[in-house]
Order: sequence, then C-alpha cells, then structure tokens
Amino acid sequence: MRASREILMSLIADLHTFIEEHLLPLEATLLQNGFRAVLPALNEKRRLVRQRGWWAPHLPTEFGGMGLPLTGFARVSEELGRTPLGHFVFNCQAPDIGNMELLMTHGTPEQKERYFLPLARGEIRSCFAMTEPEHAGSNPVWLSTTAVKDGADYILNGHKWFTSAADGAAFAIVMAVTNPESPAPHQRASQIIVPLETPGFRLVRNIKLMGEAGEDYLSHAEVLLENCRVPQTNRIGAEGAGFALAQERLGPGRIHHGMRWIGISERAFELMCRRAATREIAPGRPLATRQAIQHWIAECRAEINAARLLVLDAARKIEETSAHSARVEISIIKFYVANVLQRVLDRALQVHGALGVTDDTVLSFWYRHERAARIYDGADEVHKNVVARHILKGYGVDISS
Ligand SMILES: Cc1cc2nc3c(=O)[nH]c(=O)nc-3n(C[C@H](O)[C@H](O)[C@H](O)COP(=O)(O)OP(=O)(O)OC[C@H]3O[C@@H](n4cnc5c(N)ncnc54)[C@H](O)[C@@H]3O)c2cc1C
Repeated sequence: MRASREILMSLIADLHTFIEEHLLPLEATLLQNGFRAVLPALNEKRRLVRQRGWWAPHLPTEFGGMGLPLTGFARVSEELGRTPLGHFVFNCQAPDIGNMELLMTHGTPEQKERYFLPLARGEIRSCFAMTEPEHAGSNPVWLSTTAVKDGADYILNGHKWFTSAADGAAFAIVMAVTNPESPAPHQRASQIIVPLETPGFRLVRNIKLMGEAGEDYLSHAEVLLENCRVPQTNRIGAEGAGFALAQERLGPGRIHHGMRWIGISERAFELMCRRAATREIAPGRPLATRQAIQHWIAECRAEINAARLLVLDAARKIEETSAHSARVEISIIKFYVANVLQRVLDRALQVHGALGVTDDTVLSFWYRHERAARIYDGADEVHKNVVARHILKGYGVDISS
C-alpha cells in the first residue's frame, strides 16, 4: 500500500516536471493562435508521453494504457489539469475518455476493433451527441432525435448541439430514440455510433462560447442528422439502454472533471500567489501585503484542499462499491468543486487586474471555458436536488416528483 503510494507520488512528480518543461511553454501559441496552431507540437509531445510509458493512464495495460485505478488516475488527472493541453497530450481527454470506457466495456468485438482501439491508440478522436437545443438537457430522457429501423440499418434524424470536439472527430456516439412506445421513459433511447463521414451528418457550426468558436478538439458543434443511415450493428448495448449507459459513463466522468478542475484551481492559485508576491502597488509594497489578498489566498487554499478530499472520497467509494452507490458523493463533488473552481479563478483573475482579462495568461481562457463547469454534466441545481432528495428520504419526505 505504502509502496504503491510512493510509486504514484513519484509518477506525479515526474509528470509535474514534464508539464512544466514541455506543455506550459506551448500555452502561449494556443492562447494567441488557437488549437490547430499548437497541434503539431502536441503530436510530438504525445510521442514523448508514449515513449515514457504514460499514455492513456485510465486504460488497462492490455490496451496500451497505464492501468491506473480510478483513485490513481484522479491524482494524475489533477496534475494534467494544470494546463488546458494536459489531458489531450496523454490521450485521456473528454469526451474520448468516456467513449473509450463505454466501448471498452460494452462494445462488440467489431466496434472495439473499428472504433475503440484506434481511439486508445490516439489515431482518431470522437464526440458524444446527446443534448438538443429544443429540449432541456437537464431532462435527459426528453429527446427528439430518432433512429428508425430500415432493413438491417437505422435511419437517424435529429438536431444536436454542444457536441464537444465534433470538428475533426471520426465518429459520434449519438443518443437517439429507438423505442418511443416503451412505457419507461428511461428505456426509449439507444446510443448509436455514427461516423462523421456518413451522408446526412452535418456539422452546422462551432458554437461561439463567450466570443470564441474554437476549432478542432477545442470546440462545441451544432449538428444536424438528416437521414443518416448506419448499420444496426452500430448500436452500443441493448435497444433502449442508452440512458443507463449514459449514467454509467457519468459517474467516473465526474471524478475526471472534478480532479481536472482541482488542477486548474491549483495552477490559478499559483499564478495568484506569484502575482501577489511580485506586483508592487507602491515601491517595496507587493499586493501580498494587503489583507484582502491574504484572505483570498487563505480561502482558496482551504477550498481547494476540501474539494480534493471530497473528490478522492467519491472516487474511493466508486472503487469500493459502485458509481450507483456513490451517486450522492458524485453529485456533491459536481456542484461543490465547480463552484470552488469558479471562485478561485475569479479571485486569481482579480489579483491580476487588467492583465487577468487578457489572453496573456491562461486565466481568461479558463474563465471563458469553465463557467460552463456549473452547467455541463448536470447543472448545479440538478445535483443539489439529488443530494437533498436522498437526505430528505431519511426524514420521510419524497421530493422526486
Ligand atoms: C461547454 C459545454 C460542453 C458540453 N458538451 C456536451 C457534449 O459533448 N455532448 C452533449 O450531449 N452535451 C454537451 N453539453 C450540454 C450539457 O450537457 C447541457 O448544457 C446540460 O445538460 C444542461 O442542459 P441545458 O443547457 O439544456 O440547460 P437546461 O436544461 O435548459 O437548464 C437551464 C438551467 O436551468 C436550471 N435547472 C435545470 N434543471 C433544474 C432543476 N431541476 N431545478 C432547478 N433548476 C434547474 C439550471 O440552472 C440550468 O443551468 C455541453 C454543454 C456545455 C456548456
């Protein structure tokens, strides 16, 4: 136990050095010129990561990964989260990580060969298309996208948006209604693999997110599916199992996000402390001498520490029991850590003054992109409802309707 902890800590130290030396210097290109401008350098770093045996830390070794358990991967994910480039370079970026885990567990041998293994090797990217502009994403069983059987195929029609990373992806996993007559709303949809080259699959636009449309991996697409024909063998799992599979993916997914947010918070905290220590508001009087700044530093430290313990506790519970048993802990981290991240980023940005709102530091990038942390994978309010519902049940109150 102690030995494995020491091995993990030594790995984290090595990753820290690698990120400082190889990835942080690339951030300026990302911030000033976009993702495609930095991609050739990222591919070179991916080669180095593979050489060092750090590739796909979440995957079992038989698929070329590091075989880390969820709690081990959580610590790695925090370290990678210190830069927006980390997870991509180590091939454990969302949404591919969730798609890999889904296909590894539920894919047919053919789906594994054609879609999972190339993802695991980092040869292709993928996306996940569930949310629709016409319906509240917070009610995941309310979908209009349909997949209707025609011979051995499905014909898909629908409108999706916020299909992250669709630009340049090889395939999408699309949530579509296959069993509209099912009396159980949770058993009406299925997850179906749709290659992006399928006629009728149209990427309408990369949606501007607070002024930035992004590109390639760093983008969120609006998508139309117009009579897209794919074989029924592209369905993942049983007919009507789409919602259950989505739930299964979201448990560990929230650990991944939570630890990535802690990595972002740690980096923002470092930048804040460094700026407070060096920015003089009068000769010889750095910002750090002001009590308001000192209190922010103390509050951020306490909140990040608390957030980390909560996420590791949830990860441990998933490992020891199941994502279903840990659903309250998972909901707690989803809203708690997202709000810690928001506060830490906001204070770090404030300490940087005008510099904080420029793209000369990574803070504004995260401020723009991670406001959404309180919305995606379930909005704050939805997760608070889950926690309160569970607690109030113990007091004989049912608030599920
Ligand atoms: C950056 C980003 C990336 C995303 N990536 C993907 C992706 O790759 N694939 C994909 O399919 N989707 C993706 N999404 C979509 C995301 O899952 C949805 O935005 C989310 O489920 C919320 O749905 P909605 O936006 O329709 O908000 P709505 O459901 O319309 O909710 C709006 C607001 O209402 C409030 N609210 C909702 N329900 C309740 C309630 N029960 N009680 C009280 N208040 C409530 C919340 O404040 C919520 O923010 C992404 C979203 C963002 C912002």
